[in-house]
Amino acid sequence: MSKQHLIELQAVKKIFYTDDLETWALNNIHLTIDAGEYVSISGPSGCGKSTLLSVMGLLSSFTEGKYLLNGAEVSSLGEAEQARVRNQEIGFIFQAFNLIGDMSVFENVELPLTFRNDLSRKQRHEMVVEALEQVEIGHRQKHYPAELSGGQQQRVAIARALVGKPKVLLADEPTGNLDSKNAQIVMDQLAALHRKGSTIVMVTHDPRSAEQAQRQVSLFDGKLVDDRTMSQGVRMAAHG
Ligand code: ADP
Ligand code: MG
Repeated sequence: MSKQHLIELQAVKKIFYTDDLETWALNNIHLTIDAGEYVSISGPSGCGKSTLLSVMGLLSSFTEGKYLLNGAEVSSLGEAEQARVRNQEIGFIFQAFNLIGDMSVFENVELPLTFRNDLSRKQRHEMVVEALEQVEIGHRQKHYPAELSGGQQQRVAIARALVGKPKVLLADEPTGNLDSKNAQIVMDQLAALHRKGSTIVMVTHDPRSAEQAQRQVSLFDGKLVDDRTMSQGVRMAAHG
């Protein structure tokens, strides 16, 4: 029996139409990611990294192709059902942290849980405390984002991403707004989450960050041009 992939993109194309211009942001992407993998996606600015991540996160639709999450086709689901999948199965981490300024650390991390109707207040509380402890920021739960350093804010954002126990964490340039010391702390947190079993897909244009992932995928002009898994050496080298 073949193993079921967590994420499977089949011949995915995403074309942006602006005025007379067609931009092929994703050009025939085939990509499978298994539960427990830590994958980096690299490539020059404009090559389609963020578009690929937002397709995986059901934040944007695409022009052609198929997306299966846990073996189920999600690209054909209606909007409400996609929103449920996005909310329960996917955690996002952004370059700009995207915390809500007038909510405390605790409230920011609790926010994604408040959209769910399957959790009691007590369960939500326990999940928030656990998530904050995982990124070692529990002592800051009553603080507001502006009172924290950038590195601490990104750790709160990671806690918010993982609080609902999603199947995959999607991070878009998570260290892009951080100095090197805080960047390293955030990278260490992601590595620790991976060791504990989280599946992580991280977009980065920084080769040193990419090297911290176990598998490195490269894009160029919307095409997947390289895919290597470190423990096995070169696994595949696709050509555009
Ligand atoms: P990266 O994250 O690798 O820098 P993006 O995925 O943001 O690249 O963009 C890929 C390509 O798609 C670029 O040429 C970009 O200009 C274009 N693009 C991205 N978003 C839009 C949009 N909303 N409308 C039109 N073109 C877009
Ligand atoms: Mg980008």
